[in-house]
Amino acid sequence: MKGEYDVVIIGGGPIGSIASLLLEAKGLSVALIERNTVPYPFPRAIALNGFSMGLVKDLIGPELWSEFEFTPGIHVGYVLNKDKMDEPFGLMQPPVIEGKILDNDSFGFLNWFNQPQLEGLLRRRIEDRDGITTLYGHEALVLWEDDLNFVRVQELSTGESFDISGKYLLGADGGGSFVRKQMGADLKSLGKSIHFLIVDIKAPRSALRPGMDFDAGGHQIIDPQGKRPTTFIICEGKSHGTYKETFRFEFALKKGDDYTTIQSPESIKHLVGPYLNPDDVEIVRSTIYKFNSLISQEWRVNNMFTIGDATHQTSPFQGQGLNMGIRNTSNLVEKINLVHSGLSDDMLLDSYQVECYPDSEAIIKQSLFLGGMLFNIKPHINLLRAIIHTFNGKKGKPIDLFPEFVPDTVTVDNGFKPGKANQKGYPMYNYINEEGYPRSLRTYHPTEYRIFCKEDGSTIAEAVKRVPEIVSPMVIELSDGSDGGTTAGSRLVSAQRKEDLDKHNKLFKGASYVLMAPGYTMLGTYKNGQEEKLVSDYLSRFKLNQ
Ligand SMILES: Cc1cc2nc3c(=O)[nH]c(=O)nc-3n(C[C@H](O)[C@H](O)[C@H](O)COP(=O)(O)OP(=O)(O)OC[C@H]3O[C@@H](n4cnc5c(N)ncnc54)[C@H](O)[C@@H]3O)c2cc1C
Repeated sequence: MKGEYDVVIIGGGPIGSIASLLLEAKGLSVALIERNTVPYPFPRAIALNGFSMGLVKDLIGPELWSEFEFTPGIHVGYVLNKDKMDEPFGLMQPPVIEGKILDNDSFGFLNWFNQPQLEGLLRRRIEDRDGITTLYGHEALVLWEDDLNFVRVQELSTGESFDISGKYLLGADGGGSFVRKQMGADLKSLGKSIHFLIVDIKAPRSALRPGMDFDAGGHQIIDPQGKRPTTFIICEGKSHGTYKETFRFEFALKKGDDYTTIQSPESIKHLVGPYLNPDDVEIVRSTIYKFNSLISQEWRVNNMFTIGDATHQTSPFQGQGLNMGIRNTSNLVEKINLVHSGLSDDMLLDSYQVECYPDSEAIIKQSLFLGGMLFNIKPHINLLRAIIHTFNGKKGKPIDLFPEFVPDTVTVDNGFKPGKANQKGYPMYNYINEEGYPRSLRTYHPTEYRIFCKEDGSTIAEAVKRVPEIVSPMVIELSDGSDGGTTAGSRLVSAQRKEDLDKHNKLFKGASYVLMAPGYTMLGTYKNGQEEKLVSDYLSRFKLNQ
């Protein structure tokens, strides 16, 4: 036996690394087992949302953060063909609220970055932390449970094996997770897998073909004639951002494609040729990926958990695979901390899946929907798109696809049953921060509980005072901003657009308060006069040991 830890993490990819740092910051001792001695060298995830950026910034500290290269994306557009790139029929851009772009005072809605660089920085930070024992170049071979979770680990360079144990075991061991298999958890498929050729290119912006000189952003090209749906991402901003000279292509593969031939340098140069001058490009890597849409049915068994891709895998059309892994992991870490510190009963850990599953399932389905838009080249859909393109795109008024970021209405069993017609999705919940900028709750507070108040929030804010600080929810007064309310202290005044407020009122008709878990799972609706009940129900969620 080589050691006993509070937490053993199997898998030191981005999610295992982030989990180790979050847990160590709470004072828990961690062992991190990772087969590879160096981070996986090729980029996979390329977009981080504002929440993930903020979390990484805090975790790695200012010195390493100054090395982190990223460029805020300006837009994501859907176009019919590569010769119509500046005529998008659909755009995914955050709304403008009170004259300011949502989330734009901080990281914006997405940021292009390089995953190997992020993983390298996380490893360097981990090396600094006394509370994390790294077992790089080691493989977890066998698990068993006794009073603790035991892992037999093999050092790959010597073949030597030894056992370690932890009170909690986290499987951050990726899509093929052996921890998940050991837990006996089935994977549910939410949609078909698709094969893509992923190509990462290094080239200066000057390599962009005429007409392709867009600012940092993503372009989804449907290509009904060529039948090669393509994602084209420009990671370098025209005059902003630090992640430079990088382009990502994702080419859908079609029946009859020869996987070897299509990856030859000649073929890749031919494929990227309409976008970049092939003489100026360096192919960093090309590979064929299978994008899955899978979600595990069992996220916890006793004190074993899966996190990240071990729990869910999504197609990349919304750039959310890593992002949802990060926010779900931080949800679990908060709960482990409450239980480990004796504040909450162990039953609290069941709510990791209860709270995160619906949100993750919705994200995977949305991503499939966005992928479907790209892949659906049936004649009548093409015609519809051509009509939208003619009437909207050409006039500079593409359809707004941003609401697709808002998940389906997801509820837990609490007596709230929205009508089918209303179940299409939540409104966007935004608020004006103390500096006067509009921020989305989705991006900035996915780990906090919120109480939305239809009217004045002072009664509930008073009642909430008996909730221990460590689990205190945000109280949010909903308003369309027309009455000029401002955010003060822990009370946030939402600045929704009128259509969002109307949607909320329709969806939660008759409710004075709506309690929402991190990540948009709705936990209950309450009327005026039920403030104490709301607080009691809320507190009971945390299984606090009194
Ligand atoms: C082409 C592509 C594009 C993507 N784009 C985006 C995007 O834009 N935004 C986004 O958010 N996400 C995106 N993703 C998804 C994102 O890359 C993944 O969600 C993320 O890498 C998952 O991290 P992870 O740590 O859970 O798993 P992994 O990165 O797979 O890490 C698992 C680790 O576990 C180790 N391991 C496994 N078994 C053992 C064992 N028995 N013992 C020791 N170690 C073990 C492995 O060596 C590996 O390092 C994309 C993915 C791909 C493929």
